Amino acid sequence: MNQITPQPGILEIAPYVGGQSRIAGMSDVIKLSSNENPFGPSEKARLAFTRTVHSLHRYPSTDHAELRAAIGEVHGLDPARVICGVGSDEIITFLCQAYAGPGSEVIHTEHGFAMYRISALAAGATPVEVPERERVVDVDAILAACTERTRLVFIANPANPTGTMIPADQAARLAEGLPPQAILVLDGAYAEFVNGFDGGAGLVETRQNVVMTRTFSKIYGLGGLRIGWGYGPAEVIGVLDRIRGPFNLSTTQLETAEAALRDVDYTRHCQTENGRLRTWLVEALNAAGVPTDVSFANFVLARFADAAEAQACDGFLKSQGLIVRQVAGYKLPNALRITVGDESACRRVAHAIARFREGAR
Ligand SMILES: *Cc1c(COP(=O)(O)O)cnc(C)c1O
Repeated sequence: MNQITPQPGILEIAPYVGGQSRIAGMSDVIKLSSNENPFGPSEKARLAFTRTVHSLHRYPSTDHAELRAAIGEVHGLDPARVICGVGSDEIITFLCQAYAGPGSEVIHTEHGFAMYRISALAAGATPVEVPERERVVDVDAILAACTERTRLVFIANPANPTGTMIPADQAARLAEGLPPQAILVLDGAYAEFVNGFDGGAGLVETRQNVVMTRTFSKIYGLGGLRIGWGYGPAEVIGVLDRIRGPFNLSTTQLETAEAALRDVDYTRHCQTENGRLRTWLVEALNAAGVPTDVSFANFVLARFADAAEAQACDGFLKSQGLIVRQVAGYKLPNALRITVGDESACRRVAHAIARFREGAR
């Protein structure tokens, strides 16, 4: 018998499936499956990226002081309590590694982001799934699921793949009601798409048990470069810093992220365009008889009569060169998640879905 076996939990991990980006035999495809910014990163970020070619022989900063200072300035936060990682995925991994393990429980919600469960299992902890109410995070259900073994509670706000949000007072009530050994993690991957929303930073400031995670992969258009960050109580950030590799981010990542972050006009432009095109897309889908929830992010969740119709629609969209995301793995078999693309992408996908629906009648 083979005695070389991984740690308990590892083999329970179903590998993460990324958004598809190709259709065999088709060249002119539009990818609306990974919530990427259709306009790409700011020109200033592209220039910063290119400039780093001159310093590739140098080791990068270990303390990320400049990027943390920029985050502090732009978001009005204490840079000493910021930690930067290889995407916010790495911050999620650090949290599970540092605070969860065999015998402890990590709560995520029914339609919650896949990485919470994956990171919990990777750390040897037990993921606990809590029901949502009509695709919205249910604070009472989470509080009812807490035990003396609960160490982490992950929610994304706005959430992926639903696009729904809970208001600040509900997040505060959740933090207030957690058992004393538990941390609330507010994943703010889509926070920038909500006008005036701080992603939960205010709650981090007033409490000792809340951590916020953020990313450069969505509104900043840098998903390919892998940069994210977290903000939390000094003690927690100090713990996470102990397990962070000293050179986890390259100079290219750090300098490109900083330039992207400082280009606040471009970020605002992307936010405005997303809001405008999302409203248009939702109205077009609804007019075609496809209901959606109110989305606060850069995607919409289109709901169909049943799983068969959702799959048939996905197949039809693929035949038209349009890639959206099936979300059956998120317990939403009747739905498709569609990223808000640029104007022509929105028109193409809305037109194709309307045609699909006409054919179905
Ligand atoms: C896209 C996304 C992230 C971002 O992950 P990165 O590792 O920063 O690219 C985090 N959380 C949620 C809910 C997301 O949808």
